[in-house]
Amino acid sequence: MSDRAEQKMRFLFALRSKGVTEARVLTAMENVDRGDFVKGHFADRAYEDMPLPIACGQTISQPSVVGLMTQALAIQPRDKVLEVGTGSGYQAAILSKLARRVYTIDRHRRLVREAEAVFAALGLTNITALVGDGSHGLPDQAPFDKIIVTAAAEDPPGPLLAQLRIGGIMVLPVGQSDAVQSLIRVTRTDAGYDYDELRPVRFVPLIEGLGQD
Ligand code: SAM
Repeated sequence: MSDRAEQKMRFLFALRSKGVTEARVLTAMENVDRGDFVKGHFADRAYEDMPLPIACGQTISQPSVVGLMTQALAIQPRDKVLEVGTGSGYQAAILSKLARRVYTIDRHRRLVREAEAVFAALGLTNITALVGDGSHGLPDQAPFDKIIVTAAAEDPPGPLLAQLRIGGIMVLPVGQSDAVQSLIRVTRTDAGYDYDELRPVRFVPLIEGLGQD
């Protein structure tokens, strides 16, 4: 077996052992090569189950956390999904394998441009990447079946709650940025919102306004 094939086998094994067990999610993660989203110095660590630095002082999330968040969204093939926090584009690429349409938004123009280039190179045509403050959501495209936020806010942003379809699910980390945060799942019902706490996590903060680059 080649080194790359062995690295990928270990990668999938690590995902399973951390609780990513749903076949559709594992297949999507097998078909999206994390190596395409990690550049430069850290490229040879792309198959390790750890967050890694990307441009603009941000991070590509830990693969097992990406898998667990994707699994918690219970994505259906007809779903329209909003991701806040494009970063490298890795999470959006996985979502694009499972959903009909993915909108992803980041406050850093450079990250959005670089992610768009990878999506184009991989032929992922059902992703729209936008520059903006994702805490306001994307009112023009609302409501969304699923929303995922990959940066931590103290509380779920009101506009995102409002842009979730009834029956829809949002998964996001909440808590202060310098402390351990909780990953939560919010389900919108006819009567309001149900909240489940999933596990402790640590994410970069959700910051208001646009980045400088
Ligand atoms: N999902 C990404 C991936 O797959 O590589 C990882 C995202 S990284 C942990 C968090 C991202 O959230 C950063 O790229 C950061 O610029 C972005 N971010 C923080 N606050 C934001 C906001 N208000 N609106 C949009 N993006 C934001």
